[in-house]
Amino acid sequence: MTCSLCNKPDVELQNSHIIPKFIFRFIKKTGGSDFLRFAENPNKRVQDGFKRYLLCLDCEQLLNTWETDFSKQLFYPYYDNKEIILNYNDWLIKFCVSISWRNLILSKLDNNLEHLTPKQLVTANLALKVWGDYLLGKKPNPGSFEQHLLLLDSVEEHTFKPEDVPPTLNRYLNRAVDLDIMASPNQVFIYTKLPLFLIIGIIDMKSSKKWVNTKVKLSGKISSKVDRKISGLIGDRINAGGKKMAKILQSYSPNQQKLIDNTIENNIERVANSESFKSMQDDYKLFGKHVFFSKKEDL
Ligand SMILES: [Zn+2]
Repeated sequence: MTCSLCNKPDVELQNSHIIPKFIFRFIKKTGGSDFLRFAENPNKRVQDGFKRYLLCLDCEQLLNTWETDFSKQLFYPYYDNKEIILNYNDWLIKFCVSISWRNLILSKLDNNLEHLTPKQLVTANLALKVWGDYLLGKKPNPGSFEQHLLLLDSVEEHTFKPEDVPPTLNRYLNRAVDLDIMASPNQVFIYTKLPLFLIIGIIDMKSSKKWVNTKVKLSGKISSKVDRKISGLIGDRINAGGKKMAKILQSYSPNQQKLIDNTIENNIERVANSESFKSMQDDYKLFGKHVFFSKKEDL
């Protein structure tokens, strides 16, 4: 088999994670129960497709080094302290590129790029090539195929119309994994939502004027205190992700709901101390009773 990244033929392919393993370990470790863990993952495609035979052992290990850097230097420190200030070098952009690359190649292999125009498809394939070359050290930077990173936290107030904001918003921001290829006539973004972080790989962007303090550079400083601005399209996509999550929670059958309730009851201490529960409390502060889905008419 041929490695999707380095194109070496006749190699034994590894069963590679599309979303790094440490993310799922984090979700499991900090969740109240395994049932909640599934409830928090609104994208079915992530659940049944987050591992693929994609990479040779060398490439797998290459991507792994940046995953370790991201997890140790940014992911867990930010989870522990939202006031983080951090100097980074190229591990951050390498990690973001590797995530956007994996999201895009998965979509290509699964024939999920049909919503792109022929011209956008050509650009997407070029981005895959440039990102691949950058990861392999054949290019000094990813050029116009930029990476943007958002650090997420619970929302206490917002300026959207109430009906546009899902009651699961904070659980979505803090807990969900969600992958998408966003395309409009002028723009194509690779959208990878992880717990607490959103990575946007740019394929085609009309104007970057509205984006402030989100671009990942070859080296730089991250401070959670600076204001970040992104295009309204991304804000809308975040809300749509939260709504999808609300729908999934609401769609549980009474039996599944009972099973979840029993699990919570039997693990009440673990649930109360879990991040899922804290995010639910944050949603409760923001949305009141609509946060719970025990009765459909509540929505
Ligand atoms: Zn390889």
